Amino acid sequence: MLVASCALGDEPTDRQTGSAADASGPIASSFLQFLGTKAGTEYVEYAPGESKCIFGYSMLYVPPNTVIDFAQDARDKMRHWGVSEERIDNVLFTHSHFDHFDAPTILSFARDRWEQFNRQTHAYASQTVFAALQEAVEEAGAAEFLKVTKVSVGDRIALADGVAATVLPSSHWTAPTPVHFLLEFHGKEILYAVDAAAPKEEGFAALAGHCIDALITDCTYLDGEVDPTKSGHMNYTMVCEFMAEIKKRGLAEASAPCYITHLISVDYAQAAPVARDLGLRMAYDGLRITVAP
Ligand SMILES: [Zn+2]
Ligand SMILES: [Zn+2]
Repeated sequence: MLVASCALGDEPTDRQTGSAADASGPIASSFLQFLGTKAGTEYVEYAPGESKCIFGYSMLYVPPNTVIDFAQDARDKMRHWGVSEERIDNVLFTHSHFDHFDAPTILSFARDRWEQFNRQTHAYASQTVFAALQEAVEEAGAAEFLKVTKVSVGDRIALADGVAATVLPSSHWTAPTPVHFLLEFHGKEILYAVDAAAPKEEGFAALAGHCIDALITDCTYLDGEVDPTKSGHMNYTMVCEFMAEIKKRGLAEASAPCYITHLISVDYAQAAPVARDLGLRMAYDGLRITVAP
């Protein structure tokens, strides 16, 4: 529930301030950071421009020790934004699509952490990713250093002091067994609905009794047309309806910001003002959402 003395905002990204050294203190741990914001278009080696851009596959850093989703470019994004591999003990998965889950990449990540830092990696995933990852772990003889836990809707995963994730149903029907997460982050509740189509009743029902402080959601197609019978994603209109419905039902603060991510290739400078006029905040690689005490 809302902690009235807290404020949510975003801050300009400075690559240097994302350094691993920063992640140790209480101030530096009071932000979430987008490590990638792109939809599942073609793979490109991670090399974003210096300005705000949408380049890497969607991924979220939840300090001090967790990331959500791990695609082929995951390690490159972490390196670029200064997220220490040593610290990332937990990886949560939303679903099995290639822009969110790549078994060889998380296996090599977990193996390197084990060899370099003697630390186990814990992966949390629903049935489809769980089964694929478990098989990969067995094949690679990786059980010693990569622990895979199957999660189901309603499970709550304690991640760190003041940080947890509850598994929610997902509307991303084009993937098998997808999930969303409700993050508890130092007294705030943040809904991570990526990827997402127009929500179903069960999505709202799962939020009963909560009051979301910020929403992060899929807006893959921006102002493009979406046929909801064919696509598992959203556009501006659908996200605005989703936000309005959540607020109408009292499941979020009236002032709760909505960040959009998982975007098709887009010129940030051109598109962000359009989103802002609709009441949405366009994420970009490296953007931090601060949770100030
Ligand atoms: Zn995706
Ligand atoms: Zn997907």
